[in-house]
Amino acid sequence: MEKNIAVIRGDGIGPEIVEQALRVLDKVAEVFGHTFNYTDVDMGGCAIDKWGDPLPQEMLERCVNSDSVLLGAVGGNKWNDVPGDKRPEKGLLRLRAGMGVYSNNRPAKIWPQLADASPLKKSVVDKGIDFIIVRELIGGIYFGEHKTETVDGKPTAIDVLKYSEDEIERIGRIGFETARKRGKRLCSVEKSNVLDSSRLWKKVMHALAEEYPDVELSDMLVDNCAMQIVKDPSQFDVVVTENMFGDILSDEASMITGSIGMIPSSSLGAGTCGLYEPIHGSAPDIAGMDIANPIGTILSAAMMLRFSFDMPEEADAVENAVSAYLDAGYRTADIMSEGMTQVGCKKCGELIIANIGKE
Ligand code: NAD
Repeated sequence: MEKNIAVIRGDGIGPEIVEQALRVLDKVAEVFGHTFNYTDVDMGGCAIDKWGDPLPQEMLERCVNSDSVLLGAVGGNKWNDVPGDKRPEKGLLRLRAGMGVYSNNRPAKIWPQLADASPLKKSVVDKGIDFIIVRELIGGIYFGEHKTETVDGKPTAIDVLKYSEDEIERIGRIGFETARKRGKRLCSVEKSNVLDSSRLWKKVMHALAEEYPDVELSDMLVDNCAMQIVKDPSQFDVVVTENMFGDILSDEASMITGSIGMIPSSSLGAGTCGLYEPIHGSAPDIAGMDIANPIGTILSAAMMLRFSFDMPEEADAVENAVSAYLDAGYRTADIMSEGMTQVGCKKCGELIIANIGKE
């Protein structure tokens, strides 16, 4: 297969970690007989320096016209004083809106080799943690009307939580499709004992379930879900939920897995073109030192293979290569522990690449 990938190296450690992910993709192409073409896109602080704009229109078009986008990270102290609409992060918001990505997907996976990094008890971690939270990204209370007015002489704040059937259905489909590509279990999280929007949410999810008889759908109230994520995260395969619940639960879920440098994410819209990026920022404190952990970005590339390019075997090969690297006792500084061998960013990429196509 031939795929065109827009590549945003960004700022800080962005260029270093993206470089390793591209080398991994090149190896996948070689082993599995694909062609990946890369188009560079300037976004963030580097685009401000070069073009005076964090995401010039032409750069956005390169992303929209690609088969998918791989992003390192943007931002840094250098651009702290630029006006609000010119900040590096504005480029990211514009990119998400321009690509129409309404679903954010964040895996919570514990690597058994890094179980000690989890704040959870060993007995809980040992049962395994490997699930994805599918969060609605451009609707709900964050995008409803916000106002503060005086009622009976007192300041009163109002935030509107609104979901249409269509908005729920399109994110629901992503949830079902994601579950279909994994363990075929989908947990729909809402607050239907209190909220009308949640009652509609639940109704739409159950209507959709009829189209996905191979996926087992369950319902869970959001407060219970927050407890279950720390009590027994092994029970989850895919969780689908609305914007604010997903915002909170996905941070909780990433916390229980340990290192920030290891976690990938994807954002998808109506088509297969997605935005893939690690969940961390540009880490200016360690930029250019060859010590950043590129695994979050490498695993983001694996998600791209699985979810946008429908290449599950290739995605498995990358994930297995990461696992074999950890098994061999290699660690970047952020996850270093006693008895392990410390490696830099480049070396980490090299060792992971060497494991691809080995099986
Ligand atoms: P950060 O995630 O960049 O860094 C937090 C801490 O984690 C730092 O100590 C850093 O060294 C470490 N870290 C992060 N990624 C790492 C990796 N791959 N390997 C090893 N260590 C890693 O968060 P921050 O310091 O709050 O933000 C720095 C900049 O990044 C800011 O300008 C912020 O706005 C931006 N940011 C960008 C994105 C994005 O591009 N999606 C997301 C979050 C923050």
